[in-house]
Amino acid sequence: MILNITTTHYPATDLGFLLHKHPDKFQTLELSIGKAHVFYPEKGDDRTTISLLLDVDPIDLVRGTRNMAGDGFALGQYVNDRPYVASSFMSVAIAKAFSSAMNGRCKDKPELVDVALPFEVLLTSVPAPKGGETLIRKFFEPLGYTVSLQKHTLDDKFTDWGDSKYFTLRLAHTITTQALLSHLYVLIPALDNDKHYYVNDHEIEKLLEKGKGWLHSHPEKEQITRRYLVHLLSLSRKALDRLNEELPLELTGEAPTETEPGKKKESLHDRRIGLVAEKLVASGAERVLDLGCGEGKLVRQLLKKPQFREIAGMDVSYHELLKARERLHFDEMSPKQKERIQLFQGSLTYRDRRLEGYDAAAVVEVIEHLDVNRLKAFERVLFEFARPKTIVLTTPNQEYNVMWETLEAEDMRHNDHRFEWTRQQFADWAGEIGKKYNYKVEILPVGDEAPGVGAPSQMAIFTYGN
Ligand code: SAH
Repeated sequence: MILNITTTHYPATDLGFLLHKHPDKFQTLELSIGKAHVFYPEKGDDRTTISLLLDVDPIDLVRGTRNMAGDGFALGQYVNDRPYVASSFMSVAIAKAFSSAMNGRCKDKPELVDVALPFEVLLTSVPAPKGGETLIRKFFEPLGYTVSLQKHTLDDKFTDWGDSKYFTLRLAHTITTQALLSHLYVLIPALDNDKHYYVNDHEIEKLLEKGKGWLHSHPEKEQITRRYLVHLLSLSRKALDRLNEELPLELTGEAPTETEPGKKKESLHDRRIGLVAEKLVASGAERVLDLGCGEGKLVRQLLKKPQFREIAGMDVSYHELLKARERLHFDEMSPKQKERIQLFQGSLTYRDRRLEGYDAAAVVEVIEHLDVNRLKAFERVLFEFARPKTIVLTTPNQEYNVMWETLEAEDMRHNDHRFEWTRQQFADWAGEIGKKYNYKVEILPVGDEAPGVGAPSQMAIFTYGN
């Protein structure tokens, strides 16, 4: 079983610094179930590849305390696919071989840690359960990977035996080293049906740590979590609850007090939602979309206004949509109210005909969750294809972060934010979009402005045509 990681970043030999593995050395690491060898099959300034070769010892597998299930002797314990496939052993090897990189450290070239680099990954045999190809794509593609799969036949000499359950998997993405390794660490064992480890609360910690910043917004987070934790419902529920707690600082209402004494505190988010609703009313829209609706706070406000005949909420997260349904008390609504609402799952980075034909769309605190390299796709999806007459969009104002005491200057407000823009950056972006797609643009602050840094959040109102 081999894992190859290749970069074409220039000079590609930086991979040695990033992974803390010298390109001229062949290294062997001892694992509880065998060995892992690390070496470079190719190295050059244009292209460098590191290999992690897993050498699982079937005898160690059976002897070790963390062996596979089963009492006494069973041939299956000695003769199985474990030595040859990418499984949770690969995650153990990745964590051991590349621990500094996984923790976001690079001693000699720290400036590379946060840089997205062009990577290609080859995994020689990935065992895939039923519906394997779909599952592999569903896990990797939402994270931005280009996936290519080659299915293996059971035996080349007896093709009528059909296909095996093994794939060669190739991935390509421009991404940070830490994100790449974390994705592999979590997703490889989540694909595999057999786990070698004894699953306990400790695994939740590992999953949450390695899934930090990406798993909670992954559209398949439920399935990944369940599969990673070997379908143990109680553990999966615990993990999912904790994942969903990862809410943005300012969506939890911890914003600095902006209220007059004596008045009930209105969080920044409530104010923002109120302002968005007001602007949508002013636009005259009757059919509105809430894109990235989350648990449906805005949808709830819009329902109170009879002007809106149709309200559709879309989110990439099924879990958020379930929450929205619950919070809206959808099941108890009158048929007439129900008819006004639609909630559906979808991603803003793929063209979607369901988004066409609306008068207005809201995109509240969502774009900062999109990878910068998917932003262009989002722009086309919304401004070119869906093209509602009015778009009300908000995003944090990065300059305001200094006002949050609990936030380090260089931190973002939420660990799933991929970027946060200054007022100038936002205005530039909105201006360009306006020009390109023929929208008039108005920019407004959201929340009280502080001297020199502006308001905590910012809004752009786009109106189609001139
Ligand atoms: N608009 C809501 C939620 C903001 S949190 C509110 O203001 O309360 C950001 C939301 O964007 C999350 O619910 C997340 O699931 C969703 N999201 C992230 N990436 C997305 C994508 N590519 N497509 C659709 N929704 C996405």
